[in-house]
Amino acid sequence: MLSAKNVLLCGDAASLIDPLNGEGIGNAMLSGQLAAEQIQKSFAAQNFSAEFLRQYNQFIHQKLIPELKQKLFMQKMFNRPWLINRLVSFGASNKWFREFVGKKL
Ligand SMILES: Cc1cc2nc3c(=O)[nH]c(=O)nc-3n(C[C@H](O)[C@H](O)[C@H](O)COP(=O)(O)OP(=O)(O)OC[C@H]3O[C@@H](n4cnc5c(N)ncnc54)[C@H](O)[C@@H]3O)c2cc1C
Repeated sequence: MLSAKNVLLCGDAASLIDPLNGEGIGNAMLSGQLAAEQIQKSFAAQNFSAEFLRQYNQFIHQKLIPELKQKLFMQKMFNRPWLINRLVSFGASNKWFREFVGKKL
């Protein structure tokens, strides 16, 4: 849940923590900014209903959720030692792959 009537969740409270490395400051700041923008709109429209605040969910889903899903997938992959061993072996001999993984992490 990201929002409800009179409520917006940001940062750790909205579970916007990077599942791969536990970092959450950047997402806490970005979601805080998006929440502030949504609150401004709510005051302008005098509308704090669950339906109106759901716009905030859409911003979060557009800006943050795709990357978090990707990281969650990687976290699950990292729980398979046989796969990691093969990827590390492959990366040791392939510069492009090393750089690609480095950028994703
Ligand atoms: C040991 C550790 C190391 C970390 N290192 C990193 C790092 O290197 N990089 C990174 O990006 N992230 C790191 N994180 C994660 C990062 O700290 C959090 O993701 C980030 O601080 C979340 O920000 P937030 O504003 O959502 O929550 P918080 O920073 O936890 O802020 C919540 C605030 O609400 C207050 N509060 C709680 N309950 C109430 C209440 N009832 N009334 C009023 N106030 C209340 C709390 O006191 C707190 O000040 C680390 C976390 C830990 C635990």
